[in-house]
Parts: sequence; structure tokens; C-alpha cells
Amino acid sequence: GHGSSSNFLRQIIERDLASGRLAQRRWGGSPGDGSHHARGLLDPARIRTRFPPEPNGYLHIGHAKSIWLNFGLAQEYGGVCHMRFDDTNPEKEEQEYVDAIVDAVRWLGWSWEAHGTSHLYYASDYFDFMYRAAEYLIETGHAYVDEQTPEQMRANRGTLTEPGIDSPYRNRPAAESLARFREMRAGRHPDGAMVLRAKIDMASPNINLRDPAIYRIKHATHHNTGDAWCIYPMYTFAHPIEDALENITHSICTLEFEDQRPFYDWLLERIVPILRAPQFERARQRIEALRTQGLEAGKEFALRCHNAGAKLGRNTHAEQRMAALFARWEHDRDAVLRDLPTFFDLLLGELHQFTPVLAQALSAYEPEPFDLPHQYEFARLNLTYVVTSKRKLKALVDEGIVSGWDDPRMPTIVGLRRRGYTPEAIRLFCERTGVSKAPGWIDYSNLEIALRDDLEGKAPRAMAVLDPVKLKLTNWAQVFGSADHREPCTALAHPQRPELGLRQFSLGPEIWIERDDFREQPPKGYFRLFPGNQVRLKYGYVIECTGCEKDETGQVTAVLATVVPDTKSGTPGADAIKVKGTLTWVGVHEAVAAEVRLYDRLFADPQPDAGGKDFRTVLNPDSLKVAAAYIEPSLAQAPAEARFQFERHGYFVTDRHDHAPTRPVFNRIASLKDSWGK
Ligand code: ATP
Ligand code: MG
Ligand code: MG
Repeated sequence: GHGSSSNFLRQIIERDLASGRLAQRRWGGSPGDGSHHARGLLDPARIRTRFPPEPNGYLHIGHAKSIWLNFGLAQEYGGVCHMRFDDTNPEKEEQEYVDAIVDAVRWLGWSWEAHGTSHLYYASDYFDFMYRAAEYLIETGHAYVDEQTPEQMRANRGTLTEPGIDSPYRNRPAAESLARFREMRAGRHPDGAMVLRAKIDMASPNINLRDPAIYRIKHATHHNTGDAWCIYPMYTFAHPIEDALENITHSICTLEFEDQRPFYDWLLERIVPILRAPQFERARQRIEALRTQGLEAGKEFALRCHNAGAKLGRNTHAEQRMAALFARWEHDRDAVLRDLPTFFDLLLGELHQFTPVLAQALSAYEPEPFDLPHQYEFARLNLTYVVTSKRKLKALVDEGIVSGWDDPRMPTIVGLRRRGYTPEAIRLFCERTGVSKAPGWIDYSNLEIALRDDLEGKAPRAMAVLDPVKLKLTNWAQVFGSADHREPCTALAHPQRPELGLRQFSLGPEIWIERDDFREQPPKGYFRLFPGNQVRLKYGYVIECTGCEKDETGQVTAVLATVVPDTKSGTPGADAIKVKGTLTWVGVHEAVAAEVRLYDRLFADPQPDAGGKDFRTVLNPDSLKVAAAYIEPSLAQAPAEARFQFERHGYFVTDRHDHAPTRPVFNRIASLKDSWGK
């Protein structure tokens, strides 16, 4: 078990593994029947998942959940997760998005390189097969070309309570549909003139089964296939085929697709006979590759074939020939090995006859379960205060509401990255929020909590003054003998991790403090600076406030204070004076000026797009404030994407694009929860 982090998908997978269903699907035998031997020799049973984004935008936090789930489950159970571009819709897809998605998934820490193979796939590479599957459905009486207008089709679909009405084209001869479909492909008809529909049941209570469209005409250039096609498969038709061709075992998707599952299963069951052809082609290529690898690879492969073949029937001529070959292996391995070229010729020549043997033997190299995938649904992630729809995110970018896909207020992966989120924090968030079958909302604060929990133990500390006012220590020269004296101070880079080293800075007669750390008239319970009060300068001395300087508008231009001698932190007697407030500060003589971008939620409404609301009307006007801050000199050389905890303020990161040591730019990732009074 996986304790509190268990979820229903893990339970399904564990059930499949425990029951031997996965193994059974792969080996054609149950674990108890002696196939342990084969399994011991071969790789362990594997699950196969996939992450299938459409390259029509940048990935967002909802995708991170799906990525975590698919790659995470595959990793956890020793399987493989395919990175697949679901690029069957030409109009909105672009190479820019493909590249950005690859970057995002890698940055999140996942890889699709497994067992020596890159599992990066494009659905558009299967267009030939999908077209064949469509023709096959027509030939077998399961699809027809419908020439009704889109309006007629919509009107005849029926309602939840009324059955649909059969199209007049529904029972046309297969040959006629086939001819029309080929014309569609040949570009002989304009967009929308006709569609190919699955022939299922116009009276089904599940509207998705009322003869859904599976191919439509679209005279559009595709980012991968160019102008090779002017018809494109519908997502609901393409997706199950993609899963089946890639031997996905668990096809995980969001709840909206639950009603599509019957069609998913309907379709795959009908095309089983042709599904095997591309698998054989892949098997052939793999055998060719093994053959060129020479004796060792051939030997191993022959051994695997032998072990797999031992459990076969001998019904066909091909099986008998195979069995004869294996029989020779039993008493004269050397002869079989000498005969390896013949062995491969036999395999290749009779490939289509050897399904079970090859399936098992080849599964050592890449499992070929020769079985159909299953779809499982979970509730999509809804995060408060953000929108997670690529279309709406694109609108925010296109309308200039944010600075781009990677604006630090965007819930995109690039946005979160630029904001300073770590892959670990995002993963932690995904794990903690779990997987459910019930739709719901997750509060945005969970993301911030995960970030804090990740950075708390990692991020070096530093002092920064975000809203500076000058503080003058009026007795400095008197106490230290010279106005030029600088009092060296040190602090641990991280209070619990001395191995991260020390920060060095110094105190002088003028320092920057937060404007809010001084009040001429303190409210009740205010422990910071006000005339007559004493506070500690962190890592420095106790000081006593004596007053302030103001300009003609009454604005405080400087706070005045005196140093209390012999109170330096870390020296004997430092604690003799008890104070209730500790202030962060930066010496004027060495402070580094920095731009600090104080980000907050982009929307003021927790559900910015719920119930048809226009998210543009609920923008948070204060989602970005830019501050001219002063930071500790130790941060002057920070590289881009370096994360720090600014003491009392929260977590900050140097901006991925705009930061330079000569012009430091920090983004606030998240504030500290409860920072005052410390
Ligand atoms: P969008 O509506 O933002 O365009 P999508 O679902 O159309 O999202 P895809 O590119 O098809 O985007 O998504 C790839 C995968 O990510 C799908 O399997 C989808 O189920 C999953 N996914 C998308 N959004 C979420 C979400 N909010 N929570 C969980 N999974 C999601
Ligand atoms: Mg989609
Ligand atoms: Mg979408």
C-alpha cells in the first residue's frame, strides 16, 4: 500500500498487477502456469501510460497534475509513460507549442526515455493508419459518409429525452460511402460538405453513441504533415487508436471523457484485426535491428523465443515450424546459433503467423501486449484564483492582460517557473491534492504551502528592504570612534544548514529599514520603532529610536536612533537588554539596488470563470507592484533563477529573463505566512 498517498488509480494498477492481468495480457498465460520462468528471464510486467497534450498552447498547472499522474504511476510501477503530441487538429497547433511542452515536461523532472527507447510520439504520424481504420469501418459496415448539412445533423441528433433520427445516408451501400470517403480525401469536397460517421445507435441514451462523426474535411495545413491531408480524424476517434497503437495499458483522462468511454471501447473492438498490422511492422523492424546487432543479440533473442514458444499450441504450420526450431534448441543450441541467419529469415518470413511467440519474445525489448487499452477517468484539477483553459490563457496573452505565456502570474508551467516555483513544489502539490473521482476545487494556498515546504529547507536566507526609509544612527561616531567605522556582521546562509556557509555584511551609521517598521504614533501591540522604543537590528545591535525627520508634506524622510553599546548579537552580554522587536536592514554603504516584483493573484475572484462569468471582469488590480528595493550585498552576484528567503518577507527568485548582476530583478514567489513579531 501507499498509505495516505494512495489513490484509486494506484488501486486499479495494483489490482491489475496482483491479479496477473497485466502479465496475462502480455504473456498469454497466468503467473501461476510456469511463465514465471519466462518473466524472470524477460523484463517485469509493465504498465504503460501516456501524457497526450494537444500542442495548441502552453501547459498549465492542470497539465502538471496529469503529467505527475501519468509519469508518476509509470515510474512507481516500473512502467513507461509515453510523451505523445495529440496533434490531430491542424488549425491551432504549432511547433512553438510542441517545443514549449517538451521543455515544460523535462523541467518538471520527467523523461520519456525508457529501456533504451525514446517514447516520444506524434498522433499525426498515425494518420495513415487512422485513415485505414476508417476505411475498414466502412468496409465492415460500421461507418458511413453522411451528406446532411451540419444543421440537419445537429437537429437529428435528438435530446436527452428524445432519440435521434437516422440520417437518410445511414444505410447507403459500403461501396458508396467508400467512394465518397476517398473523394473527401482527394480534396474533391469543401469543408463541411460531408463527414464520416460511425454507425452505432441513433437511439442510444448516450448521445456520444448516436453515430458520432469520426472524420471531417478540413483544408488546412498541419504543422507536421503539411498539406498531405485535407481530412482529419475527430479527437474521439483518434485518441483510442493512438492508445492502442502504443500499447497503452491505462489511458488516464479527465471526467469529461467518461461518456466517451463506450465509444472508445466500441471502436477498438471493431478494429482489432487491423490493429495488429502496425505492431507486426514494428516487430519486423525490431527483429531486423536485432539481426544486425550480431550473435549475442541473436542468441538472447532466440532463447527468449524458445522460452516463450514452449508454452504454445502447435496448431498452424507456422507454429509447427517454430516448435521444430525450438526443439533443436533443446538438444543442439550450437546448431541453432550457427543457424541464426536462417532463424531470423524464418521469423521475418512467417512474421504474421507467429503472433504469440513474437509478442512474448519481443516484449523483452518492448512489451507488445496485443491487447486493448482501458480508459480511466479522474476529476480534473480546478485551482481557485486561476483559469486553466488554454483558450482563456491564450486570451490573457493575446489581449495584453499579462506580459506573455510566462508572465509570473500565469498558472502555466513557464509562468510558475518564472515566478520561482520549483518542480519539487509542484510535484508535492500534486501529491498532496491527490486524485479523486469527484469534481472539486483546490485552494490556491495549497500551491504556496507546497512551495514554502520545499524552499524552507533549501533557500538561502538574505535581508532585503522592499519599501526603504533611511535610519540614521546618530551616536555612531561616538560609540565606534569614527563615522567611517563599519561593524562586520555574519549570519548563516541557512539557520539549520551550516554547511551552506556564512553571509558577510556590515553595519554603518546609515541603514535602510522598512518604512512600516517606524511609527511616530504606534498602534497598540506595535513592537517596532517608535520614539523611546528599543529594537534589535538582526545580527547587529540593539538600537533606541529617538525621533524622525520629515519633509514639508509630513512624509518621514529619515528615522533617527542611537546604538546601544555592547549589545551585538553573538557577543557576551548581548541579551542583557530584552527587546520585543527585531528588524531586518541593509547598510546604506553597501546595499545593492534591485527591482522587486511583488506578484499577487491575477484574479480577485476565487472562481474567475465559473458559471459563464467573464474572467476579464474580475482581474485583481494589484496583482503586480514593482518596488525599488535594497538587498544584502551577498546577493549581488546571484545568477538567474536563484531562490532566496528574504527574511520576514517571503520567498523570492531572480527573474529568469530580466535579472542580471548589474541590474538585479527579483520576483516574489510567495510571502511567508506569519512573519511579523519575529
Ligand atoms: P485545455 O482545456 O486547457 O486546453 P485540454 O484538456 O484540452 O486542456 P490537452 O492538451 O488535451 O488539454 O491536455 C493533455 C492532458 O492533460 C489531457 O490528458 C488532459 O486530461 C490533462 N489535463 C488538462 N487539464 C487538466 C486539469 N485541469 N486537470 C487534470 N488534467 C488535465
Ligand atoms: Mg484536449
Ligand atoms: Mg482544450
